[in-house]
Amino acid sequence: MEQQQDLEYRGSHDAMIHGLARTAIEEYIEEGETPCPNCNNPTLLRNESNAKCTECAQEFVYVDGGALRFL
Ligand SMILES: [Zn+2]
Repeated sequence: MEQQQDLEYRGSHDAMIHGLARTAIEEYIEEGETPCPNCNNPTLLRNESNAKCTECAQEFVYVDGGALRFL
């Protein structure tokens, strides 16, 4: 009985960790300072490694030095 409870706990714990990880990767924040290299509107959103423009829907990836590269 104890063992079964332990397994259930581990299951929900794993699900929680995966949920948090997915949120961190997909969470976009307003870039705010850099205009979109494609349409020049200040409408970029960024997360840890990527950016996307809400105006023209172009997506970018951050490369060395924080420069934006078209995807
Ligand atoms: Zn744009």
